[in-house]
Amino acid sequence: MLNVPSQSFPAPRSQQRVASGGRSKVPLKQGRSLMDWIRLTKSRKDLTGLKGRLIEVTEEELKKHNKKDDCWICIRGFVYNVSPYMEYHPGGEDELMRAAGSDGTELFDQVHRWVNYESMLKECLVGRMAIKPTVLKDYREEEKKVLNGMLPKSQVTDTLAKEGPSYPSYDWFQTDSLVTIAIYTKQKDINLDSIIVDHQNDSFRAETIIKDCLYLIHIGLSHEVQEDFSGLYYRKCQLISKEDVTHDTRLFCLMLPPSTHLQVPIGQHVYLKLSVTGTEIVKPYTPVSGSLLAEFKEPVLPNNKYIYFLIKIYPTGLFTSELDRLQIGDFVSVSSPEGNFKISKFQELEDLFLLAAGTGFTPMVKILNYALTDIPSLRKVKLMFFNKTEDDIIWRSQLEKLAFKDKRLDVEFVLSAPTSEWNGKQGHISPALLSEFLKRNLDKSKVLVCICGPVPFTEQGVRLLHDLNFSKNEIHSFTA
Ligand code: FAD
Ligand code: NAP
Repeated sequence: MLNVPSQSFPAPRSQQRVASGGRSKVPLKQGRSLMDWIRLTKSRKDLTGLKGRLIEVTEEELKKHNKKDDCWICIRGFVYNVSPYMEYHPGGEDELMRAAGSDGTELFDQVHRWVNYESMLKECLVGRMAIKPTVLKDYREEEKKVLNGMLPKSQVTDTLAKEGPSYPSYDWFQTDSLVTIAIYTKQKDINLDSIIVDHQNDSFRAETIIKDCLYLIHIGLSHEVQEDFSGLYYRKCQLISKEDVTHDTRLFCLMLPPSTHLQVPIGQHVYLKLSVTGTEIVKPYTPVSGSLLAEFKEPVLPNNKYIYFLIKIYPTGLFTSELDRLQIGDFVSVSSPEGNFKISKFQELEDLFLLAAGTGFTPMVKILNYALTDIPSLRKVKLMFFNKTEDDIIWRSQLEKLAFKDKRLDVEFVLSAPTSEWNGKQGHISPALLSEFLKRNLDKSKVLVCICGPVPFTEQGVRLLHDLNFSKNEIHSFTA
C-alpha cells in the first residue's frame, strides 16, 4: 500500500483506526502524511543517493539492499530506493520491509495494485533490473532467437505512417516469476481507448494509436505465460455537473470519452485519479445512478455515457478537496471497475437488508434500484442508514418518497449526534438495533444483508450479523 493516505484518514485517534483483522494501518509520526511526502519529493533532495543517475541493477545487487536504511525494492522491473519513504508508508515499515532487496511486484499487486507507485516513487527510482536473457524471441524468426531487453526500433512496425510523431519503443524485464513488457510511447495519460493487447498461445501483440498512427508490436514468447495486464486502465472523463446533495456531499456527473462504453456493475467501484501538486493521487469511489429512481429525475443522459458519484468533501481531505476545486469542463481520470459483489446473490432473493453509514450508502443506490425493479421474488427491502445528524442524510427525501411509493421498502434513519428535536432512532450499530431490524419475512426466506461504511462500523456489523445467526453467504460487506 504505497499512496493511501490512511495516515490522515481516519484521523489518528479515530475509531476507524481500531480495525481488527485485515491489514493494519500504522499510526504515522507527525509530518509524515502523503502531502508531506509529496513536498519532500518536490524538494529536489537526492532520495536515491545516486545524484539523479539511473543504473542497471543485478539481482545480486538488489539483494544487498535489504535494510531499513538501505532498502531497494523492484516493482515491475524498476528498482526503487524506498528507505526515504519508510516513515511515510501508511501500511508501516514492516510491510515495506517484506519486499526489501527483492521483487515486490506480487506483494504489491496483492495489497494495492491500483496505487500509482510510478508517480509516488519517481524520485526514488534507482534504475532498471538488468536483463536475464531468456523468454522472448523475435516472432518473425524461425528459430528461437533470444532477445536481450530493448528491441531495435526497426522491429517496431508502424502500420500506417513512417512519419509518425515519435516511434514507440519497448523493452522487457524478467524475474523468476514475472515478465514485464514496457512500451514507451512518449504520450502523457495514454488511455485504454488507444491500446489493444492480445495474447494467444506464444504470440503477444500490442497496438497503440498515437496521433493518428497505429503502431504494432508483435512478439513471440518462448514459454507459455499467464496473462496479467496489470495496472488499471484510466480514461479521462469530463466534469459535466456538480450538485450539492448535503452540506458536504455532492453529486458529480462525469462524461466518458466518446469511444468509451463503460457501465460499472452493481456493487463495484472505480478509482478516480487526480494530480495533486504534480503527484497523481488515486482513491476508490462507488458510482451511483443519477437519482434513486428515474421518476425523481428525468434520465436525460444515457447511462453508458455518463457516470455519477456521490462524494463527501472533507475540508482537509487530500483528494476530495482537490476534486471539489474542479470546474465544469475539467477532467478526472476514471479506472475500470473492480469489486467482488456478485449479482447472482440476488437470485430468488426474498428479504434484502441494507446497512449503510455515511457515504457507505453509495453501493446501496444501485442495489436499491436493481432490487425494486429486477428481482421478481423480492418481498421486502429494509435500509438502516446511520448518520451523525439529519443534515448528513444523503437523498433523504428521495428515500422517503420511494418508501412511500413502494411498500416493499422500509427506511430507518439512525443518528449518532441528533438534535433534541429528533424523534427517530439514535446511537451506533448495536445488537439491540439489529435484532429488531433484521426480522426475516418468513422463517426460511432467502436473505441477503449488505453492509458498508467506515471500516470498524462494517467489521462490527459483520460480527453482530454472525451473532444473529446470519451465515457467510447471507452477508456481503463492502470494503476496499
Ligand atoms: P483523506 O486525506 O484521506 O482524509 C480524510 C479525512 O481525514 C478528512 O476528514 C480529513 O479532514 C481527515 N484528516 C486528514 N488529516 C487529518 C489529521 N491529521 N487529523 C485529523 N483528521 C484528519 N467516498 C465517497 O464520498 N463516495 C464514495 O462513493 C466512496 N466510495 C468508496 C469505495 C471504496 C471501495 C472505498 C474503500 C472508499 C470509498 N470512499 C467513498 C472513500 C474515499 O475513497 C476516500 O477515502 C474519501 O473520499 C477521503 O479521501 P480524501 O483523500 O479526500 O481524504
Ligand atoms: P461518518 O459521517 O463519519 O459516519 C457515519 C455514521 O457512522 C455516523 O453515525 C458515525 O458515528 C458512524 N460511525 C463512524 N465510525 C463508527 C464506528 N467505528 N462504529 C460504529 N459507528 C461508526 O461517515 P463518512 O465520513 O461518510 O464515512 C463513510 C465511510 O464509508 C468512509 O470510511 C468510506 O471510506 C466508506 N465507504 C466505503 C465504501 C466501500 O467500501 N465500498 C463505499 C463508500 C464509502 P459517529 O458520530 O460516532 O462518528
